[in-house]
Amino acid sequence: KLENATAKAELGRASWKLFHTMMGRFPDKPTADDSLALKTYVHLFARLYPCGDCAAHFQKLLRKYPPQVSSRNAAAGWACLLHNEVNKRLKKPQFDCNNIGDFYDCGCGDDEKGGKN
Ligand code: FAD
Repeated sequence: KLENATAKAELGRASWKLFHTMMGRFPDKPTADDSLALKTYVHLFARLYPCGDCAAHFQKLLRKYPPQVSSRNAAAGWACLLHNEVNKRLKKPQFDCNNIGDFYDCGCGDDEKGGKN
């Protein structure tokens, strides 16, 4: 089957959106179990990502930059750095990771799982 660059890019945008929004909702002070869950999620995400070529590159990046799961800030900053590494390879502009704070809003309001973004 032919590659469909439009579908591939659409999948990428949707995936990054979920990825960064998830980091923005990760606890400031995670339990050991929270941190393990995020680390496991990231590795399974990299393994199961539907574009095989993308997945292979991303797994290689993970070996160089292991997931930072000690706090929300650490996780969000790490995810931004990784996305920037992918941007670099695809010759896309770098994102200013200092602006990551308010950029990803889950729109879920103040539910019991973590309060404000
Ligand atoms: P995207 O890179 O999708 O970004 C979406 C939006 O996120 C941007 O418009 C910007 O507002 C914001 N953003 C940009 N950089 C950052 C950052 N560093 N941190 C936070 N937010 C940011 N495509 C390929 O062709 N080959 C690949 O090997 C490949 N590997 C991928 C691996 C993964 C894990 C993922 C999730 C996607 C991959 N993609 C790959 C898709 C690619 O990264 C883009 O998603 C796609 O090309 C669409 O690009 P875009 O320019 O719309 O912006």
